[in-house]
Amino acid sequence: MMATDPVCGMEVDESSGSAIVAVINRKKSYFCSDECRDAFLERKT
Ligand SMILES: [Zn+2]
Repeated sequence: MMATDPVCGMEVDESSGSAIVAVINRKKSYFCSDECRDAFLERKT
């Protein structure tokens, strides 16, 4: 399954070991990199 990185819009393969996942409000979001995850989390807080 492919998920879309909400920060940069890149498609991320959820099943690949390199996918970065963050759970926000019990919803899983997938990111292409730590940088995108951190940017997303900073925006949320
Ligand atoms: Zn990204």
